[in-house]
Amino acid sequence: MDTTGRVKGILAAEPDATAVVDVIGIGAGVYDRLREQGCKADPFTAGRKTNRKDATGQFGFRDLRSAAWWNLREMLDPARGAVLALPPDDELAGDLTALHYRHVSDGKIQVESKDDIRRRIGRSTDRGDAVIQACWMSLGSWHEAYGTMDCPSCPESFMRDGADGKLRTACPFCKAPLDEGEEQAA
Ligand SMILES: [Zn+2]
Repeated sequence: MDTTGRVKGILAAEPDATAVVDVIGIGAGVYDRLREQGCKADPFTAGRKTNRKDATGQFGFRDLRSAAWWNLREMLDPARGAVLALPPDDELAGDLTALHYRHVSDGKIQVESKDDIRRRIGRSTDRGDAVIQACWMSLGSWHEAYGTMDCPSCPESFMRDGADGKLRTACPFCKAPLDEGEEQAA
């Protein structure tokens, strides 16, 4: 069955829901088609940089995927008053408890790569990935999560780099020029 159609059906039944779409690989087309059809969808780009810090404010993350796994860890931490409930699913529980992480030299947290964990446990952590992506935006702000910036001239905010991966030179909404060295909103 067509993925876009399935997601659209779920969104129609749950008007408050937003689809989070892994936009690496086949998800890119799904995301574009959902947006074209006016559906609420957020992109998840595992390798992207993020300004998100851990709950203590001490540690940053090597990439968005690492931050997203950590985010779920903190959402499930009873010491932080966790309210999230997960469905009883052995494979999901296996995925979520399998992942290793380390502190890399620049003080950031890096979780085990998809390739490494697939080699170690013999399968992809697809269910775990789905949950961490779905929960990714639950804590913190869009600015922190994606390194977006506010336009200096209009009320809009946007990703600092455009779809082509290059830094924007102008606001995509009001076309105001942006300084080359302008800081990202933290
Ligand atoms: Zn603007």
